[in-house]
Amino acid sequence: MKLLTVVMLFAPMALALHSGGLAPWRPLNDNNSVPSFGLGTWLGFSDKGRAEPKGHEVEDAVVWAIDAGYRHIDTAHIYNTETQVGRAIKKKIGDGTVKREDLFVTTKLWNDAHAREAVEPALRRSLQKLGLDYIDLYLIHWPVGTHANNTFDDVDYLDTWQAMTAVRDKGLTRSVGVSNFNQKQLERLAQASNVKPAMLQVELNLNLQQPALLAYCRAQGIQVTGYTPFGSLFPSKATPDAPPPRVDDPSLVAIAGKYNKTVPQIALRYLWELGVTPIPKSVTRSRVEQNIQIFDFELSAEERQKMASFDRGYRTIDVKWWRDSPHYPFEKN
Ligand code: NDP
Repeated sequence: MKLLTVVMLFAPMALALHSGGLAPWRPLNDNNSVPSFGLGTWLGFSDKGRAEPKGHEVEDAVVWAIDAGYRHIDTAHIYNTETQVGRAIKKKIGDGTVKREDLFVTTKLWNDAHAREAVEPALRRSLQKLGLDYIDLYLIHWPVGTHANNTFDDVDYLDTWQAMTAVRDKGLTRSVGVSNFNQKQLERLAQASNVKPAMLQVELNLNLQQPALLAYCRAQGIQVTGYTPFGSLFPSKATPDAPPPRVDDPSLVAIAGKYNKTVPQIALRYLWELGVTPIPKSVTRSRVEQNIQIFDFELSAEERQKMASFDRGYRTIDVKWWRDSPHYPFEKN
């Protein structure tokens, strides 16, 4: 039998393994696949630093999300939401809504565990909190290493990457990838290792569209997850220097109205049409449910062009406090 015939025979089976959910699954470069839309679970900052979950708000959000057709959940050690994500998953598997293999769970290695010998114990701690025996994707959260006292750890992320591929080989995670790496850092990784990241997770929204980085990832077969997909759309979240648009921008309101959608929905649809996997966060049931309803319309070329024109290269998450690290990934101006 010719190779192509064999591939065609088995392809539908591979897809069938990942049926369910509202978002189409996209192939990863390691033969796995990822649902092209997810739920974020970072709660942002409060006056005192990291915002902590109130009651079981994250658990509820994940339950609503799975019920609404999400199959991809994004968390991280540093968010302190893994335990609630895990409880929700247990609940939804327990009540028969999904099976473990229907879900795609991402978590991330924090900066204080970049040393080679620290990676596996960190992942095992995350697995324990999640109540899972494997995750689908493990990401190096930042290229910057830090010690617990916030001084820089000069461990090279190339060493960290070797340990990431080792935990994949052990089956603790199905895929490995990176977050907040720039193109130069991705190229350096590609030169040093024969395991390519399956995923790059970076900030992507109307103000920060990163066309060059997206083109590079497309050419390299690296999928891209877009975090903070709403950027500065909501006045309550926008800093005074943040460029437009806001959610009441007349041109966006008009596009949304044409499809009987909301402005947040067309912003998410735009990213999705760029080939990005958006992971909006919400702990509000109606928003969780609304955000994923973007698969029944398509923007016109003119509308996409209008939305492209909002790109200002403006970062919502610039982590300037790490700018003296040799591995700081962003522009320093
Ligand atoms: P988002 O762009 O997802 O915005 C979240 C905010 O938007 C919340 O205040 C939420 O409110 C509100 N919101 C959500 N949907 C709607 C809607 N339809 N209408 C009005 N308001 C809405 O920001 P995040 O920074 O949280 O990014 C998303 C996820 O990306 C994170 O949760 C995290 O998982 C990931 N991330 C990864 C990073 C990395 O370094 N790899 C960095 C930052 C984020 P409410 O919850 O009250 O409904």
